[in-house]
Amino acid sequence: MRVIIIGAGVAGLSAGITLAKNGVEVLVVEKHSQAGGLCTGWSRKGGSGMTYSFNGCMHWLLGARKGTTFHKYLSELVDLSRIRFIDHRERVVFDYGDSKFSFLNKIDEFEKYLLGLAPEDSAVIKEWMSAVRFVNRMQPYLPPDFDQPTLWEKLKYFVKLHQLVMFVPFMLKWKGVTTYSFSERFKNEYLRKYVHNLYSIEMQMMHVFFVQSYADLGVASYPEGGSEKFAELLVESYLRKGGKLLLNFPVKKIVVDNSVAKGVLLENGETLPADYVVSAADWIWTQSVALEGKYVTEKQKPYVNMPKEGIYYSYCMLYLGMKIPMSDYPHFIRISVPKIVSPDGTEYEQVEIHIYNYDRILTPEGYCTICVDFPTQNGAFWIDLRKSDYSKYKALKEKFSSVILDVLKCYFGESFGEGVDYADFVTPATYHRYTSNHNGSSQGWMPMKTVMQRPPINNKVKGLKCFFQAGHWTEAGGGLPIAIKSGMDCAKIILQKIR
Ligand SMILES: Cc1cc2nc3c(=O)[nH]c(=O)nc-3n(C[C@H](O)[C@H](O)[C@H](O)COP(=O)(O)OP(=O)(O)OC[C@H]3O[C@@H](n4cnc5c(N)ncnc54)[C@H](O)[C@@H]3O)c2cc1C
Repeated sequence: MRVIIIGAGVAGLSAGITLAKNGVEVLVVEKHSQAGGLCTGWSRKGGSGMTYSFNGCMHWLLGARKGTTFHKYLSELVDLSRIRFIDHRERVVFDYGDSKFSFLNKIDEFEKYLLGLAPEDSAVIKEWMSAVRFVNRMQPYLPPDFDQPTLWEKLKYFVKLHQLVMFVPFMLKWKGVTTYSFSERFKNEYLRKYVHNLYSIEMQMMHVFFVQSYADLGVASYPEGGSEKFAELLVESYLRKGGKLLLNFPVKKIVVDNSVAKGVLLENGETLPADYVVSAADWIWTQSVALEGKYVTEKQKPYVNMPKEGIYYSYCMLYLGMKIPMSDYPHFIRISVPKIVSPDGTEYEQVEIHIYNYDRILTPEGYCTICVDFPTQNGAFWIDLRKSDYSKYKALKEKFSSVILDVLKCYFGESFGEGVDYADFVTPATYHRYTSNHNGSSQGWMPMKTVMQRPPINNKVKGLKCFFQAGHWTEAGGGLPIAIKSGMDCAKIILQKIR
């Protein structure tokens, strides 16, 4: 019995670990030279000779500590005690020149801070925080975990699960309320502005409550060493359990015989047979290329040419290796700037700056790395340009980098420029090249109108046996926990079938 998994992102590796530890022969086939997919990082030497490690993806990992079902899932995959998790006092600090605002992580502290700023809005502030506290109480059952060790534990769990009924009126109350519409409820102008700008785009308040709840409970934290270190732990765990990994082997097609998946055809012409195939790679590539569009349902057809707004944005990012510590700054700042227009046409009036002055795996004391990110839904611009005119692509990257460096010098002071030891500009084309995600998307589908709305695909493909899909495209909003759970779910279905 052999299972082939396409893609060594976190979804593919999670599926692989779950199968390998249950004694199944598994082979993960990855097109890139490094495993991890979007959960990645890289190291580069600066002019001073110092090596800087850059965190290419996560700012936090849900399930870091006990309090949600995701902690149980993560613990089944890796030894979490090997990671040092770091919590920050604030999620982000806004610095708009004329005023500052701290989006604090601990709810009691945040409530006090907001009430101090705007006592006239106490009713709205209390309603907001009580929504987060409500989500806090639900967290131990989200997502519901029916896999309990004994019958007694199962019964106890089912009784507790009834609490989730309370979610229905809660969801109905907050359905459709966004950061923009919620901000209008504040009388205080200052709060109205900052609540409107909590995210760089309009977000459902339900999403905000969950994010705040994770931070308040401390169940989502930043793992020291960032994404690359976490991906390395997954790979180590997978290999130790007996899984096999092929790097630098892009898959061309999924071999199908009589509506049954039989293996994969590699780009090099070699066919690898399998009893089950899981694609943990991009959904559109899987359906349109690897399965030649034969299994796209009528309902899914419009999504193959999804309008760009339906897809989670990708990023242009300027990564800097700094030979100065920058220890006086918060880990994440959002500043307002005179309008900047990116070469892909996206306009920005705010700039997000991540300062990794707290991660001693990425750089030693006295140094730090910085990442300035620009979310864009025009990923196709960069992908197409890189293909059609590489020199123009490079020139535009350099031009936009120097615009951003000027903005940073203006904010941090002229001496900032002297601290820059290495600069690297990545675009959606970079993410697309290394992971094949559609438009270079960072998380698959954009969260849908309601939090519970499902995307047009799930882990099965109608009309095709012995085949499953995993990864962040299988649930709106994506992210590491979704990808990890989807990989584990596919593996568990296969285990049930073969036993
Ligand atoms: C900048 C950024 C910040 C983020 N921050 C966070 C965060 O803080 N918290 C969070 O939870 N999530 C975050 N995410 C999202 C998270 O990284 C992704 O949702 C998750 O890593 C997706 O994992 P995946 O395994 O589903 O897909 P991927 O990582 O895309 O893995 C798919 C794999 O398939 C491989 N593949 C594709 N085509 C082929 C082929 N033909 N043959 C063989 N292999 C192939 C790819 O190379 C890749 O390795 C962030 C993402 C980005 C980009």
